[in-house]
Amino acid sequence: MTATAAWGATAPTSGMAPLSIDRRELRDEDVAIDIAYCGVCHSDLHSARNDWGRTRYPFVPGHEIVGTVRAVGKGVTKFAPGDRVAIGTVVDSCRKCDACEDGEENYCREGMVGTYNGKDRIDGSTTYGGYSASIVVAEPFVLRLPESLDMAAAAPLLCAGITTYSPLKNWNVGPGTKVGVIGLGGLGHMGVKFAKALGAEVTMITTSPAKGADARKLGADHVLVSTDMAAMKAATRSFDFLLDTIPVPHDIAPYLLLLDRQGTLCIVGMIDMMPTFHSGLLLGNQRAVAGSGVGGIAQTQEMLDFCAERQVLPEIELIRMDEINHAFERMEKADVKYRFVIDMGTLA
Ligand code: ZN
Ligand code: ZN
Repeated sequence: MTATAAWGATAPTSGMAPLSIDRRELRDEDVAIDIAYCGVCHSDLHSARNDWGRTRYPFVPGHEIVGTVRAVGKGVTKFAPGDRVAIGTVVDSCRKCDACEDGEENYCREGMVGTYNGKDRIDGSTTYGGYSASIVVAEPFVLRLPESLDMAAAAPLLCAGITTYSPLKNWNVGPGTKVGVIGLGGLGHMGVKFAKALGAEVTMITTSPAKGADARKLGADHVLVSTDMAAMKAATRSFDFLLDTIPVPHDIAPYLLLLDRQGTLCIVGMIDMMPTFHSGLLLGNQRAVAGSGVGGIAQTQEMLDFCAERQVLPEIELIRMDEINHAFERMEKADVKYRFVIDMGTLA
């Protein structure tokens, strides 16, 4: 075991503070990574406070990790010390079920092993995330970070990025597709950028006209203010695909009306009970409500390569490690454009 500096929570109300964690000695297939930057995801905040009732303490968040390889186990073939790499939300899976064979480790039948608060498949230990100096991850779950991607800005791609890229790709969004992105936060702003980069006609759907102006700067072609009843009525049946990034419970009925025949509303931002809706909204035009959770390793690598080629990058605010408690408070007030990234060089 290697004692490693980290920041984490020791109880739901403890807040975040420095602590020391043990990283395992390298197994044959392991890659040891010095962490340079780590993005701050809403899941980090919810998990630190045990909002979902599954957190084991001490708890170290962070699953938007970029860094440099420090050492490799003797069976590692794809990475060498000095390589730029990234780790997302998944660090292991059964590797043999149909989902894993399809490269969708995130939907593994035995359950994916989360980068934090997961259970290691070999020794049963709890996994610790990227708010730390280093991490050890098995080679099949290590991603290559292209040279042309800015390291700090790339960090949020590993969760916010793949969470929005994956459904857009899986529902074949491209030229000719009319896409609406609902909600403009960490996820929504990447949804706009990706949908635009994929060639779709993109509308930002928001409660706030001010956010509409921001969305245009990010590349949205149109803005639909959801509190404007006349505009919403005029937009009835005008979208092929709606990416719903709203992070709190909300009524989807007004949005379902916006979907054209055979359109899909895909939920990516909300993991909890939602209000009910009238099923006629689905039957009438063969609409679907779907969900999507992060993405597999192969698709995450594809996304990183796509971002490098097209220079699609998140908008970030770089913070010091000791600013994390304040950052969590600001996230709760939606006071961030659009993602905090921690400079791990500031880890005390
Ligand atoms: Zn996340
Ligand atoms: Zn599996």
